[in-house]
Amino acid sequence: MFGIKLENVTKRFDNVLALDRINLEIDAGEFFFLLGPSGCGKTTLLRILAGFEQPERGRVLFDARDVTDVPPHERNTGMVFQNYALWPHMTVWKNVEYGLTMRNMSQHARDQKVRRALEMVQMSGYAERSPNQLSGGQQQRVALARALVIEPGVVLLDEPLSNLDARLRLEMREQLQDLQRTLGVTMIYVTHDQKEALAMGARIAVMQMGKVAQIGTPRDVYRQPLTRFVADFIGEINLISGEIKSVEFEVVATTDVGDIRGQAGYEGVQVGDQVLCAIRPETIDFLSDENKTTDNVILGRVRRAIYLGEVEQFFVELASGDQVKLIQYGATMQHAQPGDEVRLGFSQQQVVVLRDEAEDRDEAV
Ligand code: ATP
Repeated sequence: MFGIKLENVTKRFDNVLALDRINLEIDAGEFFFLLGPSGCGKTTLLRILAGFEQPERGRVLFDARDVTDVPPHERNTGMVFQNYALWPHMTVWKNVEYGLTMRNMSQHARDQKVRRALEMVQMSGYAERSPNQLSGGQQQRVALARALVIEPGVVLLDEPLSNLDARLRLEMREQLQDLQRTLGVTMIYVTHDQKEALAMGARIAVMQMGKVAQIGTPRDVYRQPLTRFVADFIGEINLISGEIKSVEFEVVATTDVGDIRGQAGYEGVQVGDQVLCAIRPETIDFLSDENKTTDNVILGRVRRAIYLGEVEQFFVELASGDQVKLIQYGATMQHAQPGDEVRLGFSQQQVVVLRDEAEDRDEAV
């Protein structure tokens, strides 16, 4: 297995800038996620790693080896696609064996490796079936075995679970994680599903229009988003716009619903900056006791309450006309009815103050 480095990788298709100066380092043995909306360049990046596309500028390194101009079959990458891409006329065994046959390996060595690969994905009993006699989950496991059998230095997975139903997807997530941990192989996983990336990724690169918007652990990108785009794309968020009033002891923004205290989400926060106070719905509480207070208190009226069993969602209209969403969990669930006037409280620690950028505003529409 190897580590991967991308230096200024840029790719253009006609007048579309699919990748714009991507710099990325992925450690050997890491399970790394590329996450972003449709068209942000994830697949293009994966194809550049596999060697199916050439960057217009920049370099791709596998460990210290520059592979930018190395053809796909000399890169030792294994690829798993969304639609499995198994050969329908070959049995499961032949599908998995194919990569080894191409490498002129002896029959004995091939048999051993195919057997092991099928065991790894728990498909040993299906060797003589053809792909159309398998369920989607089983086909995806065969595709994985086919990628792993060549003992690749990196496995590239392009939305590998998106054709599976929700239950199977959860099951396969766990199996993939276990397999990655056991084998210790570098894996790069492309998805537009933020829940999948949060649940599985050790590190995630959030991509936006050909650029990396943020890299971090699931916790980092969820709790400390660097931009409105990342905050919006990962999970749900309330955004209240304001202007920085003070940065002396704490960051305070003046907004239409009063002052809001928060954490600086970018460097060099200055008085007068136009900002967005980003607050996750589950970090806001109803302050039922009139006298109770916290770092931030805002007033509103409940417009809608949606009971979902383990959680209840509330939509509260503020004096500014903005709507704020709250999520309350089971045991601590507070009761409020549509029409109730409420006080909402949230701590300074839970508010990330982001720069309100015009560029981000346009894209978020
Ligand atoms: P999705 O999740 O929909 O697969 P993605 O993030 O993987 O999207 P890419 O497939 O990498 O995005 O595409 C990035 C941009 O490059 C898009 O605007 C796409 O239309 C464009 N693009 C990709 N491949 C080509 C191509 N072969 N020719 C022209 N444009 C392309």
